[in-house]
Amino acid sequence: TEPLDVERLREDFPILGRKVGGDVSVPGEGPGDDTPLVYLDNAATSHTPEQVVDVIADYYRSYNSNVHRGIHSLSQEASVAYEEAHDRVAEFIGADGREEVVFTKNTTEAMNTVAYAWGLAELGPGDEVVLTQMEHHASLVTWQQIGKKTGADVKYVRVTDDGYLDMDHARELVGDDTRMVSAVHVSNTLGTVNPIADLADLAHDHGAYVFVDGAQSVPNRPVDVTDLDADFFAFSGHKMCGPTGVGVLYGKRHLLEEMQPYLYGGEMIRKVTFEDATWEDLPWKFEAGTPVICQGIALAAACDYLDDIGLERIRAHEEGLAEYAYDRLTEHDDVTVYGPPGDDRGGLVAFNLDGVHAHDLSSILNDHGVAIRAGDHCTQPLHQEMGVAASARASFYLYNTEAEVDALVEAVDSARQLFA
Ligand code: PMP
Repeated sequence: TEPLDVERLREDFPILGRKVGGDVSVPGEGPGDDTPLVYLDNAATSHTPEQVVDVIADYYRSYNSNVHRGIHSLSQEASVAYEEAHDRVAEFIGADGREEVVFTKNTTEAMNTVAYAWGLAELGPGDEVVLTQMEHHASLVTWQQIGKKTGADVKYVRVTDDGYLDMDHARELVGDDTRMVSAVHVSNTLGTVNPIADLADLAHDHGAYVFVDGAQSVPNRPVDVTDLDADFFAFSGHKMCGPTGVGVLYGKRHLLEEMQPYLYGGEMIRKVTFEDATWEDLPWKFEAGTPVICQGIALAAACDYLDDIGLERIRAHEEGLAEYAYDRLTEHDDVTVYGPPGDDRGGLVAFNLDGVHAHDLSSILNDHGVAIRAGDHCTQPLHQEMGVAASARASFYLYNTEAEVDALVEAVDSARQLFA
């Protein structure tokens, strides 16, 4: 694959030219203007290219209106754009049409939709939900609570010492009582790329469904939900060059047809009497109230942007940066990087520097303009397994450079010296 022309791509993201600095915790001081921004917090949220910002501005400037109901021109234009955005996203992930693509607020809401709509109705004592130890709280806490409400057991597939999913353990846990297997595609803490197609086969062999958390996979690698044979699949727009406020729930059509809605109200109904109501067709049945119109249209533009560059090239670029960061950080024995080896991971590295709390490290890095994340990255139980309360995480995207990884490593060096 042809390497990305990163310098050219960076022109699409004016925010990357920003300077940062100053003490944001001191009222009135705010960000200064002295240090170039090195943005390595892409797993939390990616930046938005001009092409997508323009689509958002154009929506509000030219055809902002509510969808589905209106007979007037603006409403029709907005409706067509919003409905076609579902088609575009369906194509982007290999779904079989707009009926299988529900726009939600984010990954978290997509998971809660299935947990409430399917889980509460279907699960009971004796049933089992199998998760992995590397689940994000978005799925871990959601299924845990559905387990408490329904009496279903929640079990966790172990992570091996070198950061992979223990598939032998998965084969032990998944059995005929298993009703749902919910697994993260790419771990937002370990960078592990999980064998989803194998998990789906395992689940299906036992008559269980599989829910895939694609928050960290869809932004940066080609994903085809049909090839993976996922029953449900979720991701967020704001991690893939789109805006905040929109996520996607993919579901196989027959499953979404069988499921009852989780939210009720306008836009999702067909006929209402004082006694009863019937539901709209898919996917609108799951989009109660005024939906995420502008955000959904902008998400489709983000799909165009990523496809124009090429997901395979984006993946290669990011994984190259992750490997480079892994190699440079582990040149020193006092750095621990969590997860699989540098040449077998998604585009992020979570690590700790001996003797320095991840929050302090992040704060020192910020003084150098380097934006990373510090904490448990919404994987508290996994951090307990890793034997630490927190870690620092650098995560890369299509616009990051090796020079920025060098800036990260130099900033870690200065933290090392400060605490020596
Ligand atoms: N799953 C994973 C793997 C994630 O990285 C994230 C975002 N940190 C989420 C779920 C939740 O995404 P959102 O906050 O957009 O719902």
